[in-house]
Amino acid sequence: MTVSRRSLLKGGAGMAAAGVGSSIFQVNIGNAASERVADVVVLGCGSAGLAAAVAAAEAGASVIVLEAQPHIGGRGIVSSGNIPLGGGTSAQLAAGIADTPDLLFRDLTDWSIVQSNGFPSYRYNDREVIRAFADINVTIYDFLVRHGVVWTTARPDNVGGNEVGNSVHRMMHSAIMDYPSVRTGLQVDPARRRTTAQGPGFIYPLEAAAKARGVKILLNHRLDSLHRTNKGVTQVRASYQNRMVNILARRGIVIATGGGNGNVEYRRQFDPRLTAEYCGVAGEPYSFQDASGILAGLNVGASLAGAYNQTGEFGTNITKPTAIGTRYNYSYLQWGPNSPVFHLAKASGLANVNFQNIIHVNMIGKRFFDETGGQFGTNSAGSVNPYTPNSYLNAKNITYNPQNWINAAMAGIGDGHNGGGPIWAIFDADAVARQNWNPTPPNVDPDGFFFQANTLAELAAKIVMPYQRVPMPASNLVQTVARYNSFVDAGADSDFGKPTPRYKIQRGPFYAAWSTPVIHDPRSGLRINAASQVLDFAGKVIPGLYAAGEAAGGFSQHGNGRALAQGYIAGKHAALRSS
Ligand SMILES: Cc1cc2nc3c(=O)[nH]c(=O)nc-3n(C[C@H](O)[C@H](O)[C@H](O)COP(=O)(O)OP(=O)(O)OC[C@H]3O[C@@H](n4cnc5c(N)ncnc54)[C@H](O)[C@@H]3O)c2cc1C
Repeated sequence: MTVSRRSLLKGGAGMAAAGVGSSIFQVNIGNAASERVADVVVLGCGSAGLAAAVAAAEAGASVIVLEAQPHIGGRGIVSSGNIPLGGGTSAQLAAGIADTPDLLFRDLTDWSIVQSNGFPSYRYNDREVIRAFADINVTIYDFLVRHGVVWTTARPDNVGGNEVGNSVHRMMHSAIMDYPSVRTGLQVDPARRRTTAQGPGFIYPLEAAAKARGVKILLNHRLDSLHRTNKGVTQVRASYQNRMVNILARRGIVIATGGGNGNVEYRRQFDPRLTAEYCGVAGEPYSFQDASGILAGLNVGASLAGAYNQTGEFGTNITKPTAIGTRYNYSYLQWGPNSPVFHLAKASGLANVNFQNIIHVNMIGKRFFDETGGQFGTNSAGSVNPYTPNSYLNAKNITYNPQNWINAAMAGIGDGHNGGGPIWAIFDADAVARQNWNPTPPNVDPDGFFFQANTLAELAAKIVMPYQRVPMPASNLVQTVARYNSFVDAGADSDFGKPTPRYKIQRGPFYAAWSTPVIHDPRSGLRINAASQVLDFAGKVIPGLYAAGEAAGGFSQHGNGRALAQGYIAGKHAALRSS
């Protein structure tokens, strides 16, 4: 509903009941291009936002959703569609998997589970937030099924699991069906639509459910700020086509804008190394994690949670690319030329890198680690085996085996600057043939993320791009490759222990392809309680303000499960809130 400025300023019974109508509200309404009002206003139209919108509408509320992008879905629609849901879902029951909310809660708060580098997956989870999640899982599973989500397999498994609990299988996978993939812009081959999991499989059914219940989704509407009166947070100021829009919430505002990993200064509060060269955050350029919702919350007095989980060396907080030569090089996401955002992504990348075919060098042309080294570990069903819940034995029985490629890549060049700088995969024409790559656009992005030359010295000189803040000395690259080739002759890498280096880099043309670590999951965000209400620095509820999904902190789990659950909790609570 669009309402006139006059009717808003008059206030009326509904507005008075909502606790708005203070002088601060009247000041803020000036100059707005338009004003709108709803019971519940949801910020962000991804996994958490859609769940919040549908839950609020089902509870009888009028709902407006603001989405900054020209398209819905956020990281949710880009995702692989895996959704961890347990606690005794009907799929678990049918498969004979004994799970309960108590077991799920125990799993997600088990202090004793550590990765092989010693980092605990669950120790710093907020118990109230996890309890609420555990108790609502079955409801969320049923909610998705009720709205038409189809699973690729009826039986839960542990595929794609990422901090989802060690005891039992909980992973469900939403089938893409006939929806086009936003990654490729294309429908999946009909024979595989029922067995291919991807985000559209749950995002589009939720969008349809929202629309069927009268939810208004306003695209290209970007939250700029929130406004708080003595009654709580009741007003959103957004921009639409460079004009200001005021939106009023009678009952509640749900921040579901995702995390802050694309905001360099926000993320550097947690990890000083995360400087600007980490410029291909997973999910971008379809949806951006600019921390705008979190910052808007902080500006009205919210507090943060999840600092440890944000920097914890487990799961997919930061990942090692397995596709190279493109800015957007998250391993599990290759943009296809027909994707609606390919004009922004520019290249697909060279995929399936066999790390025997390349060496990694840093900004100054030096190797820094065994290229075959992996990224951090993750916990899912059966990862710790044997498993005794909450027992000292779990950590004791783990064989210490740190995966430090990422840390070495982010260590920098020792010149007093933060950030590891660009990481380049260096390879030759023989590697291209072995990999069957075509190293031309749009497979690679020659605009700073891919270079080629006839000699290694020329290649080093050509590597010029914004994040290469010092030139790569040609002599370094030449010496690095010569030394590596000698390791191939010797059959052993005496610098970094790469298992039996196999191929020399010796036949031009030579290539340098962007292979810089990729930031993925945010695990810090606004501090919430069990009802997804945002808390201030005194631990008190900020009336009317909610956060869900990656905008919320305190929960160390990858993805869609917590986003859907917290969105649902927030939307329903806001709808039923007495204003
Ligand atoms: C490639 C990839 C694969 C993944 N695979 C999986 C998987 O298989 N399983 C899993 O569980 N998780 C997966 N994830 C993670 C999962 O997609 C996210 O955790 C989940 O989408 C988070 O939900 P959210 O609602 O918090 O954020 P999002 O889904 O990202 O939604 C946030 C929305 O808010 C919008 N927004 C941001 N700022 C503003 C603003 N100022 N004003 C208005 N709107 C704004 C964004 O454009 C976006 O649409 C994957 C992520 C990626 C990128």
